[in-house]
Amino acid sequence: MAKITSLTVHETLDGLKNKEFTALELAKAYLAAMEEKRALNAYVLETAETALAQAEESARRYRDGTARALEGIPLGIKDLFCTKGIRTTACSHILDGFVPPYESTVTANLFAAGAVCLGKLNMDEFAMGGSNETSYYGPAVNPWQEEKKLVPGGSSGGSAAAVAANICAAATGTDTGGSIRQPAAFCGVAGIKPTYGRCSRYGIVAFASSLDQAGPIAKDVRDCALLLNVMAGYDAKDSTSVKTETPDFTKALGQSVKGLKVGVPAEYRPTGLNAEIAACWDKGIKILREAGAEVVEISLPHTRYALPVYYIIAPAEASSNLARYDGLRYGLRVPGEHLDNMYVNSRTAGFGVEVKRRIMVGTYVLSAGYYDAYYLKAQKVRRLIRDDFVRAFNDCDVILTPTSPTTAFPIGDAQMKENPINMWLNDVFTVSVNLAGLPGMSLPAGLSANGLPLGLQLIGRAFDEETMFKAAAVLEKEIGFERLK
Ligand code: GLN
Repeated sequence: MAKITSLTVHETLDGLKNKEFTALELAKAYLAAMEEKRALNAYVLETAETALAQAEESARRYRDGTARALEGIPLGIKDLFCTKGIRTTACSHILDGFVPPYESTVTANLFAAGAVCLGKLNMDEFAMGGSNETSYYGPAVNPWQEEKKLVPGGSSGGSAAAVAANICAAATGTDTGGSIRQPAAFCGVAGIKPTYGRCSRYGIVAFASSLDQAGPIAKDVRDCALLLNVMAGYDAKDSTSVKTETPDFTKALGQSVKGLKVGVPAEYRPTGLNAEIAACWDKGIKILREAGAEVVEISLPHTRYALPVYYIIAPAEASSNLARYDGLRYGLRVPGEHLDNMYVNSRTAGFGVEVKRRIMVGTYVLSAGYYDAYYLKAQKVRRLIRDDFVRAFNDCDVILTPTSPTTAFPIGDAQMKENPINMWLNDVFTVSVNLAGLPGMSLPAGLSANGLPLGLQLIGRAFDEETMFKAAAVLEKEIGFERLK
């Protein structure tokens, strides 16, 4: 038998039900694997005690016949989710030692379904970044070609690295502009950013509240569906959570795509698009066409404004959300002569360079005199970007694009360091989806010539994750991507 840590969530559930191994053996196998792979720096906190206690309860429930949907499944939790009694820092120094007295709704749902918490996963500070390099705890390492020390992507870099390296069965992530999809693509795993409002944001450290969504990162498409089934649902504690039924997403898997209209946006193929990425996209198009789908050219004409709009709106919301870190209420406090100095000293020491950059940009675009010129204009263009999708979905049912314009790059890459805009450009295919509030997912689509994972992105209509899952399952089956074992 393969190592039990290499199994997908659905295979693990089968193994547990068939008594091939117990939940306790499973948790111990993961804890041992985590120890072996500490060099990846994927976890910023391991919670062995919690994991073993939960696993024991799961083992008992399997014996009693009272197992729940994810009974005994060992998960890694992105450090952006507040976990009651377990340190949560958003990988920022300013939240040093913060232990939340409450649980995020998404993690509460997962644990209520029997999931086991292995620990908290590395990420870019406050989810700002695309490489996991802005983490106060240092970058996580991509498990592909580990010796090359490549980034796992970000901001959910620890989540994607841990899933790919088999040191959790699946993980939670969050996505504000691509933070689930891009790291999933870089690490050869699957990830879904659901429709805005599908999952509760309660208890998730806020970055840009109108864009943030939680979602799973997992080894395959079915695992994503199984996790989303449990994570999603209306929550009165989040005013933007939408009152709608959560379908059983696994029902979409295995359905035919015959007659499905797949949109391919012309604007996502700029001159100079990496040839391997273009070829991978073409392969995806071909697979869906051969499976009976109808491929249609679509246009999303405001695509080129998406990055500038995102990098106005996201920092604006971030600067407001991060005003609460004043040294008084949570985490780090650096004393000063007066109250004002204490604020300044705490924020100076507590925030990293990228977070400060966003606070500066955000404060600027919200300030009197610039608010109309930048923030309001960005909101108007955001509407046009959304309208592009509404129009496109008159002609198609789902959209197929690459996830990222590059494969994983080296930690400390000179080009990215030289100009932060280069890092921001990485989000070119993902940010529109957040601006429009739509669901998007990434699945592994092959390897580049130098052996690194490539991802394909599917984009669906609002609250139509099912069509995305349907197309993703067809692609996944035909591609036959080989995960790291
Ligand atoms: N890379 C993007 C950023 O830096 C997206 C981050 C995210 O989705 N959390 O803002």
